[in-house]
Amino acid sequence: MDFEDKDTEVKEQADTQEQGDEYEDVCFMCHRPASKAGKMIHLTKDIHICAECMQKAMDTMNNGNVDYSKIDFSKMPNISMINLSDLQNMIPRRQRVKKKAPEQNEQPKQEKKLDIRKIPAPHRIKASLDEYVVGQEKAKKVISVAVYNHYKRVAAGADADGIEIEKSNMLMIGPTGCGKTYLVKTLARLLDVPLAIADATSLTEAGYIGDDIESVLSKLLAAADNDVEKAEQGIVFIDEIDKLAKKKNTTQRDVSGESVQQGLLKLLEGAEVEVPVGANSKNAMVPLETINTKNILFICGGAFPDLEDIIKERLNEQSSIGFRADLKDKYDKEKNLISRVTVEDLRNFGMIPEFIGRLPIIFTLDALSEDMMVRILKEPKNAILKQYQKLLALDEVKLEFTDDALSAIARKAMEKDTGARALRAIIEEFMLDIMYEIPKDDNIGQVTITGDYIEHRGGPLITLRGVPALEMQG
Ligand code: ADP
Repeated sequence: MDFEDKDTEVKEQADTQEQGDEYEDVCFMCHRPASKAGKMIHLTKDIHICAECMQKAMDTMNNGNVDYSKIDFSKMPNISMINLSDLQNMIPRRQRVKKKAPEQNEQPKQEKKLDIRKIPAPHRIKASLDEYVVGQEKAKKVISVAVYNHYKRVAAGADADGIEIEKSNMLMIGPTGCGKTYLVKTLARLLDVPLAIADATSLTEAGYIGDDIESVLSKLLAAADNDVEKAEQGIVFIDEIDKLAKKKNTTQRDVSGESVQQGLLKLLEGAEVEVPVGANSKNAMVPLETINTKNILFICGGAFPDLEDIIKERLNEQSSIGFRADLKDKYDKEKNLISRVTVEDLRNFGMIPEFIGRLPIIFTLDALSEDMMVRILKEPKNAILKQYQKLLALDEVKLEFTDDALSAIARKAMEKDTGARALRAIIEEFMLDIMYEIPKDDNIGQVTITGDYIEHRGGPLITLRGVPALEMQG
């Protein structure tokens, strides 16, 4: 029993020491905490007296007619000298008052949001995009200016002078996995506006199996928590728009292609649209909400395969006329031919003129190069490498990738031809073993992923804490 008691006492003392900083000092006389009584005079580590009580004590001593110096306390019965340290144990625990946490004026660190009401200048929008999206300089510039103009137009509203600024809906053309969706997602997040991402291939003309065209607005409404006003300032991204191209040489009704393009026209130009709430098609059971699409920014995106052939054909035709006649294969090797796209090419591809006409801003994104892939791996704010490094850091293990390793991963991703999407899958494959093995051994301080490991010629380098690096046996 005795031991146990001692144990608890020691524990309590340790607790007290540990929590020492959490508690306020309390006046030994009036029992008021320092937050009420003000600054304390410290007699011992645990005995404090507030200035007021100290003053009172001094006053009593000075004002009294007693001359304390002449009294011999030692000869008085029942009086002994007090050892202040004994008093420490007399302080009741209940008397202690916890210090209040200092008020946090600082907001928790959050991602810096841009405020659309203040309409950030294009260069600021682009600078924010730069933190996430690698390369694609032209696209980031175009989109920043377009968004700036769009929200300026929204803020200006209908002016008395009758000049109405045209809507800046956009058409983004670029190979798969080059960052189209990512660009729009990042933009919507930075501007803090609701975003709906719809897949054009799932849309069909009303009455046919598939989603009604209005369903893209249902998604936007859901993204805006059913707040119509918020939804009316949102962004709609329609992916795979190239799949809506007019089918060539067909006599059948094209319910998922040309008809959908026709159906989208009224949304793009701005109209009051009845939208099913929480469903993909209108029917008697679904409540409807009216949304005005005048201020909704529509961004369409697609890979437009074979568009390069159409461009090449046009360029070849132009250059084979007259004196400037060139070799027929002149454009075969040209990179980024897609950036030379014109409205005419898109029409030849199968987009109807009215549809293209409502997407006045057309721009292209570059196919990702090996260099860009490496940068995507390490540079963006939430880059894949940073994510894995953070994950291992939680186990106090440092994760490093050599430059060789990064190039090898990028090379492998290029082979897959699915853009940056392949990167994560490749890294995941190599990290699996590492994340399985590392937690087994507490002594591991660092793991270095090498080019050899990625090329299956060896294992990653393992550094034990305080010992030179070793190669892990794969
Ligand atoms: P798509 O062009 O087919 O819409 P995504 O935008 O969905 O391609 O890209 C897939 C993923 O690849 C994104 O989630 C993003 O993580 C990454 N990614 C693609 N391009 C870039 C880029 N330029 N910068 C940073 N990450 C990118």
